[in-house]
Amino acid sequence: MPSEFDLIARYFTRPTRSSSAVQLGVGDDCALIAPPANESLAISTDMLVEGRHFLPGADPESLGHKSLAVNLSDLAAMGARPLGFSLALALPSADEAWLVSFARGLFALADNEQIELIGGDTTRGPLNVCITVFGSVPIDRALRRDGARASDDVWVSGSLGEARLGLEVLTGHLKLSADDTATALQRLHRPIPRVSLGIALRGLASAAIDISDGLIGDLGHILERSALGATIEADLLPIGSALRSQDHQTQHEFALNGGDDYELCFCAPPAQRENVIAAAQQAGVAVTRIGQVTEIPGLRVLDHAGNSLQVHSKSFDHFSKP
Ligand code: ADP
Ligand code: MG
Repeated sequence: MPSEFDLIARYFTRPTRSSSAVQLGVGDDCALIAPPANESLAISTDMLVEGRHFLPGADPESLGHKSLAVNLSDLAAMGARPLGFSLALALPSADEAWLVSFARGLFALADNEQIELIGGDTTRGPLNVCITVFGSVPIDRALRRDGARASDDVWVSGSLGEARLGLEVLTGHLKLSADDTATALQRLHRPIPRVSLGIALRGLASAAIDISDGLIGDLGHILERSALGATIEADLLPIGSALRSQDHQTQHEFALNGGDDYELCFCAPPAQRENVIAAAQQAGVAVTRIGQVTEIPGLRVLDHAGNSLQVHSKSFDHFSKP
């Protein structure tokens, strides 16, 4: 039976990159990070609990990817550059096949995004993955939720609704073609954090958030913090390709309330439209203008005829009653 220290040494210890801000990684009482001069540290934690955020028996490689991806998505939403992350892992047993796959998924994304594992904790217990990411952003350039202004455009990156579609397939509520199933499950299990886009939007976006709980709920957080409202045009929503086989109501519902998309929703003044599009091109991701920030509080979603659609935030809340 490998000890806790064997597991850490075998699966979670890698040499520190000489170029990075990480001065000391795994193996001491603390890691040491030297953030670049005149930058703030950006810090975020997300926990993934078996039975709550993923189904029992979930593929460990995808879980390794997703647990880091959802954390990187928070750095992206702040316009921060990733520096390092810590990993607190509770495991029912020292299942080495599981650990090999988990580490493969985790480090593939970490290498892609040039972020290093700098420490953590390993213990026996019900399966639980808790990651804290550390990033940096020039002082006063972070994309906060409270910066939106009336008449700003509302934008989203990529496409929406396919992660929810994947969940419906996984739980047996919907059946799709093999291709659409693969696309939807990929979106659910392998979200791509929009890190380069977040960085490219510094100085352009007035506010940003990542869409983890659904567009309506997450845009709602920006509006609440900025004390404003917004009008969204349902026909402008970028619907994921696999979702287009469903009826309009399902498309809109999943795109507006689906959750787990990990796209960015951001606001920017109309004068920045061309710069926003150029930034997105530079980051290699599509962006779509879906509406406008208004002085009038509340969020309205309009159909093609200009009528208000009845939409409610079904944003996931772990402590709300069913
Ligand atoms: P301590 O008892 O001082 O908290 P631990 O024995 O928990 O230290 O961990 C030893 C070292 O291994 C520390 O540097 C810690 O950050 C690191 N570590 C523990 N678990 C993990 C993990 N899952 N991933 C990365 N590093 C880890
Ligand atoms: Mg410890």
